[in-house]
Amino acid sequence: MTDTTASTPARAGATSWLGKLEGKISWILLGLAGLALPLLDDSYIGVIAQRACIYWVLSAGLNLVVGYAGQIAIGWVSMLTLGAYTTAALAAGRVGAEWNPYLALAAGGVMGAIFGVIVGLPALRLRTFYFAMTTLGFATIVTQVALAWKDVTGGGVGTPGPTFPWPFEPGWGFYYFCFILAAVATWMTANIGSSRYGRALVAIRDAEVAAEASGIAKPKLLIMVFLLAGALGGVAGGLFASLQSYITPDAFTFEMSVLFFIAILIGGRGSILGPVLGTIILTALPEFAAPLVQWSTFLYAVLLLAIVLLVPGGIADLLDFKNRRPLTQHREIVPRTELLKRALDKTDGKHSIVLKDIALHFGGVRAIDGLDLEIRSGEVHGLIGPNGSGKTTTLNVISGYYRPKTGTMKLDGADMPFDQPHARASYRIARTFQTPRIVGAASVLENVMIGGTVHGQATFTEAMLSLPRNRRDEKLLRQAAMQALATVGLESLADVRADRLQHSELRFIEIARALMLRPAFLMLDEPAAGLSTEEIKRLGALIKAISREGTGVLLVEHHADLIFDICDRVTVLNLGKELAAGTPAEIRAHREVVSAYLGA
Ligand code: ADP
Ligand code: MG
Repeated sequence: MTDTTASTPARAGATSWLGKLEGKISWILLGLAGLALPLLDDSYIGVIAQRACIYWVLSAGLNLVVGYAGQIAIGWVSMLTLGAYTTAALAAGRVGAEWNPYLALAAGGVMGAIFGVIVGLPALRLRTFYFAMTTLGFATIVTQVALAWKDVTGGGVGTPGPTFPWPFEPGWGFYYFCFILAAVATWMTANIGSSRYGRALVAIRDAEVAAEASGIAKPKLLIMVFLLAGALGGVAGGLFASLQSYITPDAFTFEMSVLFFIAILIGGRGSILGPVLGTIILTALPEFAAPLVQWSTFLYAVLLLAIVLLVPGGIADLLDFKNRRPLTQHREIVPRTELLKRALDKTDGKHSIVLKDIALHFGGVRAIDGLDLEIRSGEVHGLIGPNGSGKTTTLNVISGYYRPKTGTMKLDGADMPFDQPHARASYRIARTFQTPRIVGAASVLENVMIGGTVHGQATFTEAMLSLPRNRRDEKLLRQAAMQALATVGLESLADVRADRLQHSELRFIEIARALMLRPAFLMLDEPAAGLSTEEIKRLGALIKAISREGTGVLLVEHHADLIFDICDRVTVLNLGKELAAGTPAEIRAHREVVSAYLGA
């Protein structure tokens, strides 16, 4: 047994090495093309390339906001405007003495960072298009201020853009400056994208409740991302001012904002390479077909429609050869419970979660109506009852999603706060969902790694710069996730996109993700739904083994056999109230339960 375990990381290492090379080739080609471009000695192409690099500096940051976090920031051109005017005004000496253009550019970045956070704040409360409207509104305000504040911006007449001195003088020197900054922006955002912060962003986008249950605090993370995206937008603005050599408010159009946004969607959400190519294509396309310039907006719209309809995953999906290889047809999930010893900490002593007199109403519906419940470590506690009897709601109260009207909830005798789902991970309370909440576009391994987000030590900045602490985090998270996958029997699918898997496999992925917290308590919401008889048997053995390692399990289930097989105690709910509680034998003999629920 030991040597099969040992061979797992080695095999994964070999495939990921190949995968890495496959992923790097496009970058190497792109980098070489960018470096060699001046050999063409065509200044027109040079200007287009400068523009593409500048747009990408902005879009790189916006990509984290739109592509990763799924926030519809459609008016991000405002950051370009702010950065452009800040850099231009400071360098031209319109505010005090003339600044060195490089310093002025840095100031443009700072300005972008500040306003990136300010514009981003509404995203913490507003949903989708309401947030989209606030970003658009802000873009309009910035343009109006630029028009009105004549002393600094020159109003409608405009102001000259900065000229950067040695070593990045106008021409190919400036091109290399833009290229280097674009490369740095790519590197930093790709580092974020492949760190636990990037995975957390995608989790917020596609499985927000699962992200919270894994301890991901959305506000803090989004603020960091808006700060970075704003700073990059501001820097792009300073470069843009230099490219234009003279800026007026109408240089910053709504169409540009749409271009940035669409380039990301065309590229593919949650990818870096795709949006880079999207930005290059959208910048260059109208230029190379001069008659098309006045049609550019129309072109973008057609391209976007075509992509959404034909390749919803964008360019990134087209380039994702790895996920086009067919999967084995008749796959089996064979958990290896002997690995649990390493996945869980054998908890010393006894722990408990105690609910007392919990009541929760949704309008007139009494979802829970005065419930007492105790979950103890090392035991499987079954929670059964007809549909709508309040099982999931009970789980949600324990997970901190709802604040009940009355009642208390204690962990080892101390009050646990209601209303804080993301705080549960720190108590090592993990859960799965009645409908699996999985990031379909991420790999199985990445999905499981999301579960361990709170164990990471590196800060956002450390991750952005790929410093040693972040690399250590990644290594540990990857190892732990591979081990969790091996435990539930899915390690052979680690590199596969999660949306290619079968329903039963998603249920086991959720358990693997929950194991990443090394949970003291694990709550499972109908884990056997949709599983075959054989799979249910294996699931039962896995759950039992988890409880033997000291974890307290709360098992919501409909399959009576499974419940009576593995539970130590059972609570039967009806209309939010306890109908019966006791050992499986007692419940099986309970007359009311048998007649109302189990069916005689
Ligand atoms: P179970 O998981 O036992 O099938 P639930 O806990 O999901 O039942 O639901 C219990 C009752 O509360 C049902 O009547 C359901 O319609 C209601 N309910 C659950 N969640 C909500 C909600 N967010 N808003 C309104 N009613 C809800
Ligand atoms: Mg339910």
